[in-house]
Amino acid sequence: MSKALFCPTCHKVVLATDENFPFCSDRCRLLDLGKWASGGYKVSTPIQDPDLLEELSRSKRDNPKHEDED
Ligand SMILES: [Zn+2]
Repeated sequence: MSKALFCPTCHKVVLATDENFPFCSDRCRLLDLGKWASGGYKVSTPIQDPDLLEELSRSKRDNPKHEDED
């Protein structure tokens, strides 16, 4: 029983028996790798909590104890 899915790059139907599966072609495979390499997909999430950001900047500013460490 053969399987098929859509090429992640161009969404063409690709059979599981295709040598480039799950991509329809070598070109699409390279394009997908390029997307990863160029940062098209982001894994880490930036801090977006305003309270946490406020706390971080405040502890930096109002902490004369550690001033001489810099
Ligand atoms: Zn493709």
